[in-house]
Order: sequence, then structure tokens, then C-alpha cells
Amino acid sequence: MPNPAASLSSAPAPAPAPAPSPPPSASSDRPRPCPACSAAIDPDPRFTAWCPACEWNLVPAEEAAEECAKNAKVVARERAASERTERLFEEVVAGRTGTTRRDWLAASALAAPVHAVTVVVAGAALWLLVTGNTPLRCLGALLLAVAFLLRPRLGRVPSGAGVLSRADAPALYGLADRVAAELGAPPVGVIRVDEDFNASMAVVGLRRTSVLTLGLPLWEALDDRQRIALLGHEIAHRVNGDNRRGLWLGSAMRALAHWYDLARPRERTRGGYGVVALLSLIGDYLGNAFLHLVSRLPYRAYLLLDRLTARAGQEAEYRADGLGARVASSEAAGGLLRTLLLGPAAGTVTMRLRAEIQSRPRSGRRDAAAGPDADALWPQLREHLAAIPPLERERLLRRSRQDGHAVDASHPPTHLRLALIAQRPPLPATVTCPRSEATTIAAELAPHRTRIARTLLAG
Ligand SMILES: [Zn+2]
Ligand SMILES: [Zn+2]
Repeated sequence: MPNPAASLSSAPAPAPAPAPSPPPSASSDRPRPCPACSAAIDPDPRFTAWCPACEWNLVPAEEAAEECAKNAKVVARERAASERTERLFEEVVAGRTGTTRRDWLAASALAAPVHAVTVVVAGAALWLLVTGNTPLRCLGALLLAVAFLLRPRLGRVPSGAGVLSRADAPALYGLADRVAAELGAPPVGVIRVDEDFNASMAVVGLRRTSVLTLGLPLWEALDDRQRIALLGHEIAHRVNGDNRRGLWLGSAMRALAHWYDLARPRERTRGGYGVVALLSLIGDYLGNAFLHLVSRLPYRAYLLLDRLTARAGQEAEYRADGLGARVASSEAAGGLLRTLLLGPAAGTVTMRLRAEIQSRPRSGRRDAAAGPDADALWPQLREHLAAIPPLERERLLRRSRQDGHAVDASHPPTHLRLALIAQRPPLPATVTCPRSEATTIAAELAPHRTRIARTLLAG
């Protein structure tokens, strides 16, 4: 089940050809004719050879085989989702939005019974506890426990290694505050960093604290202006009318996800021999069949809410991209989106360095994980991404056209997000980050860079 706390990108492109990195060379077979249309192609030996003219091998054969293995039902669902996504894009381009109000209302109305279930169970429990005799009071106590399990989930303010306090990172918070002020959003409550090639904004707890999560691999892959675009997009989620993260809808969706998790059938360890084993097998079977039925209800309700809010959610994402462009410039917002396509390539850098460290003798391995070698991950990551040639970037972009539609994802496909930015008049930056400030922010993040590099390389 997808997580209601949406992140920056939802459908990462599949890994590009792993690049065990022989140096780029002008090998004798390039350029050569495309096997499909005979146009001259000039493949870089480190990446998938493909033809921009006819899109031969845009999807390498082994990945295409996976696509073919999908059943007709999945294909039809994906096609329908893709059509909805394209239609919404056309409407956003034409400025015909606002039809989503009805969907928000329907979704909000659907969230009501979810909250009502908890209220009714808690009310019944209290009534039994107050008015009942001893057995009824016991039942009341039991119901109270159930109500506690079913309660709306507000999320928790994170704690732990990745959390940065305002005292730890005054420059980073200062930059985020300037972005928030420019967008008319409240200042970010908590910033934390993690090891994903992604970023997200969540609002949690009774006091509705905003939590901005920055994936350090993505942050390190961006330039200063693209980082402002990233902050802009995420902070824009406080003002882009995305009710999925709101108290009413967000907590109902989280509660449904939790109910599903409570009720879903699980594998059990079986013990005993002979008749005991047989009985336990039958018991498991019946129990799981019952749980399967029970868990369908929250599952279906979640899907329905997700479907109702997906369209409005995507519209809100386009708006967040626009606001990101308004603070950091259209160019920086586009650069951020193009970098998002490189997530799998960033993964291969980590994998390569990890394999390299693990192939060393034991003592060297220990030094590498503990010493300055871990920090070598970041310059290697930047170098590798910077060296990805335009032809491969173009392939990844065209691939996102196909993959981005795979599900009704929280974010529109990257190529459409880029297309929308390109459609609009280019915007200059309204928030900038002088070099000295960027250096201070880098210093604030330094301990986390080392820690996260070690985690990734130990993985
Ligand atoms: Zn977003
Ligand atoms: Zn061709």
C-alpha cells in the first residue's frame, strides 16, 4: 500500500545499464547505423545504445520482456491511468483546473465514516465502562483498547540521527525560512536528512509540525540553485492546497493503511506433528481467509480515497513545481526535475563503491568504512552524474514518458512536469544563496554526509 506522505518523485525510472565504467573511448564501431531505421547513431559504450530517431532499444530487451509479462488487466489499468494523467496535463496547460473541488469534497465525505468508526467504538467503550456491570465493563475496556488501535494516525515528530535542530543548522533553516517567507508558507518545523534519492514534506502530530526530509544523495547531486528549487517544491506543499496531507483526510488515509496492516493475513510458523499440524494448518487457512475478507474493506476504501485525491494531488504537484520555479527560477526547477531522473544512476555509484570496498582485504575494508573513504562517495556521485552524456539523459527522459504512467502515482510523470515548466514564461530566481552561505550549509551537513555515506556503503 502506498504511503500517504508523498515524496518528491514517485516513479523512479528503471536502472540504466550498470556502468562498470571503462573509460569513454571513441571505439571503432561508433558511429554506426541504427539496426531499425539506419539513422547514424553514436552510442557511448558506457550506456545503453539506442536510436533517438526511431527509439530503437529505448527500453532494452530484458526490461521490455518484463513489460510483456504483465497481464492484460494490469496493462489496461496502466493505460487508463496514463490517459487520466495526460488529460489532466492538458487541462492544467489550458488553465482549466478547479474541477477537482468536487473530488476533494467526495474524499472528505468518505473520510467521515473512517473517523466515525473510531468515535463510535470509543463512545461505546466509555458508555459500557460508566454504566455497565462488571462483565460489561470488561467488554468496555476491551473496546477502549480497540478504539486505541483504530485511532486516527497523526504521525510523529521524528527524532534520531537524521534530525537537524535549528541550533545545529542555522544556515540551512535560514535558507528554508527565506523560501517559506517568499511562498507565504509557515516556517519549516523540523528538517531531517536521510539516505534516499528523494525529498518529502509531511505534517505530523497534534500540533501539526511540518517535517521536511531531504535525501542527502539527491541534495548532493544538485547545485545551489536546484537545492532552492527543491526546498521551494517541498515547502510549497504547505500552500498548494494538497489536502491529502491535511488533518482530516491525511489521518483518515493513514488510519486505513494502518487498519489494513492490522488485518492483513500473515504467514505463521507451524508447529507440531500429525493431527496437530493438520489442525493448525486448517486453522491458519480459515483464519487467513477471514482476515483476507476483513482487510479488503480498508484496502478498498484506501484505494478509493487515493483514486479520488490522485487527480487533485497531481494538480497540487504541478502547482508546487510552479512555486519552486518562482523561488529558484524556471531553469533551476527544470534542472531539479532532470536530476530526479538520475536516481538509478546514483544507485549504481553507491553499489560500485560498496563492491570495491568489499573486495579489499579485511583491514582495508574496515578503514574504508570508518575513514575518509566513506566521504569519497559524494564527489564520485557528483562526477558520475555530471559525466552522464546528453544522449543518455534524453533516453531517461523519454523512458519516463512510458514508466511514469505505470501507476496513478502521487506525482505526475517527470516529463510532463518538465513540459509544464517549459510551457510557461521563464521565471527568474527570487531567493538566492550566496556562495558563503552554501559553504556554511555544507559544513552543517558534513557529519550527516559521513554518517549516511557509511550507512550506504555498509548496505
Ligand atoms: Zn511534491
Ligand atoms: Zn533508428
